[in-house]
Formats: sequence, structure tokens, C-alpha cells
Amino acid sequence: MQVAANTVVSFHYVLTDAANGETVDSSRERGEALTILAGRGQLIPGVEKGLEGKVVGDRFVLVITPEDGYGHRNEEAVQRLSKKFFPNADRLREGDAVVLQTKYGPQQVRVVKVGGSVVDVDTNHPLAGVTLNFDIEITDVRAATEEELAHGHAHGPGGHHHH
Ligand code: ZN
Repeated sequence: MQVAANTVVSFHYVLTDAANGETVDSSRERGEALTILAGRGQLIPGVEKGLEGKVVGDRFVLVITPEDGYGHRNEEAVQRLSKKFFPNADRLREGDAVVLQTKYGPQQVRVVKVGGSVVDVDTNHPLAGVTLNFDIEITDVRAATEEELAHGHAHGPGGHHHH
């Protein structure tokens, strides 16, 4: 069976930054393949497209530009915030990753500059503007169940778990 919309695909991946070869994320390190319902926008567009038509055992590298990945950096996404929003304001250093509680939920930001009473943070996705290499190996492809189609996600190992 080939990967197509409404199939459930499992795959291992090693994600590296194309510019410096550093590993950003790896399902192999976690020891569990990622399982998703294809065609529902659960992956960045470049990976969703790159999986189409593949079968179990296929191994390939996708080179994904920001357009098909996490988007371009938005320089207006740098914000100046009062230090009172930061639990450890006095220990903050440039380059630190900090999770802030916002009205939209927790958001990871990167510290750009620490001033006397304010902190400048970059709210871009950490992979915005980055070209990525996805080394992918397909480990399973199957038809989605009625329940998975209704829920809009994959169930079982590597997928969504209900409690
Ligand atoms: Zn479900």
C-alpha cells in the first residue's frame, strides 16, 4: 500500500539542519516511529508531500526549504517584554530558550537581549528560516480505521493515545 490521504503511515526520521548538519530531532533516539494520519496537515507541507506514494521499506532524504517547512523568520516577531513576565529574570542570558505562559498557552521564545527592566525575545518558531534535511524510513502503511478518520488522527503505538 502506498502513502496517500487517509492512510496511516509510520516512519522513522532524523531531522538535521542542512546548513550545519546538526541533528535537531530524531525518532530513532526516542526508539519509536512517528505515526500519523496522512493528508490532514499534521506535518509540515514538505514532509506531507514527500511521503506521498511511498511504501514500507522506502528510505529517502527530503530537503525542505522554509516555504515548505516552518516558514520564514519574521523580524517583527521580536518583542520587548517587562522582566516581571520571567520567573528567573536575573539569570537570563542571550540565546536562552524560555517558555512563557501566554493567553494562547505556553510558547517557547528565545532571549535576544536582556536590559535593565526589559527583555527582548524572539517568538519565531526555532526552525523558521531553516532549510531542513529529513532522513526518512517508512516502517508501516495501512488504511485508516473509521474511528481514526472520524477523529482526524492516528491511534495506536506512535499515534494518539486515548485515556
Ligand atoms: Zn482519537
